[in-house]
Amino acid sequence: MASITVGVEPESVRLQYQFRANGDDWRQVNTPVKLTRTPEHFGGERVWFACPGCEKRCATIYIHGKPACRTCKRLTYGCQVEKPYEQHLRQARKIENIIESRGGVVSHGDIDRKPPTMHWSTFMRLVDRHDYHTEQSLRAALATM
Ligand SMILES: [Zn+2]
Repeated sequence: MASITVGVEPESVRLQYQFRANGDDWRQVNTPVKLTRTPEHFGGERVWFACPGCEKRCATIYIHGKPACRTCKRLTYGCQVEKPYEQHLRQARKIENIIESRGGVVSHGDIDRKPPTMHWSTFMRLVDRHDYHTEQSLRAALATM
């Protein structure tokens, strides 16, 4: 992350920053995050963020990608908190989904048949990447044991 600008407004803070996920293009984020207040036991008040995703009160807002609370981050931006083997597994599943959505056949995590309209070069590249991610996920999973 290059820089972040925090603008304080009466009922919200405005977060401006750029981020880039996994080699994608840089994206600009300019999002207000609402603030909510709860009374403290002995007077005064505590300021919370209201998560832009679920509107729940949260003490910490995560700003990799769009700002959101931890729960939302896990759901929407799972890759940021995934373990390495999960990332590879997800990449492998993504390729399987591409193959299947184009009419190919995947069984038990193996790519069995090329989608009829897919070029062989594209298919072989996907198979290579699938093999790579499958192998890396196994390695990473073993490394955590
Ligand atoms: Zn949330």
